[in-house]
Amino acid sequence: MRGEGDITDSIQANVRRVLAELPTGVELVVAAKTRSPQEVEQVVEAGAHIIGQNYVREAREAYEMVGGRARWHFIGTLSKHAVRRSMLELFDMIETVDSVELATEIDRKCAPIDKVMPVLIEVNSGREAQKSGALPEDVEGLVREASGLQHVQVQGLMTMGPFVGQPDDFRPYFRVTKALFDQLVGLVLPNVEMRYLSMGMTNSYRVAIEEGANLVRIGTAIFGERNTRS
Ligand SMILES: *Cc1c(COP(=O)(O)O)cnc(C)c1O
Repeated sequence: MRGEGDITDSIQANVRRVLAELPTGVELVVAAKTRSPQEVEQVVEAGAHIIGQNYVREAREAYEMVGGRARWHFIGTLSKHAVRRSMLELFDMIETVDSVELATEIDRKCAPIDKVMPVLIEVNSGREAQKSGALPEDVEGLVREASGLQHVQVQGLMTMGPFVGQPDDFRPYFRVTKALFDQLVGLVLPNVEMRYLSMGMTNSYRVAIEEGANLVRIGTAIFGERNTRS
């Protein structure tokens, strides 16, 4: 039987191992869905600075424990109806903006709290029908429209890619997203500063880094397998 201390030790060792492996300039987003506030605190204690949350309720619970010791990225699916002032106050970045309607709603609700929300545009790089994210050909138009919003700053792109088997199978989707990123870097638009390319999860982050990612979102390699599917 492993005791609680052992689990803590292994989470912290995993964080240190991943951090040591990342090249300079690549930042770790610890994907914390389904994990307890205590587990989130452990990764922060071990030196992780950014926590990625898919669910606002889980984020709030972890935030109560960890607060400003981490930066908080929203990485889940977000509909414009779920954009609330309280979540906008909590998060430091929303990585999953995929429509003008969503960007506009974030802008509208950030205005009264005087906040400029950093956002990434999520790209549906695999062109999957059921998947969130903007199609690659729609991303530039979306960025141009978002650039007119005063309370949103576009800071880059994010992609998941399809659930393919082997790490190498992700490469084409990461390449499409990186090409789009490079294209957008060349545009000079107000409220747009292309800095972050968020790609790669536990099974694909090494390939993502080779393809230009500078934010990687890792859960399983740090906490172990999730018990619940989500
Ligand atoms: C869960 C999740 C991850 C991390 O997945 P792992 O395979 O556990 O590393 C990354 N990004 C998003 C958006 C996620 O929901």
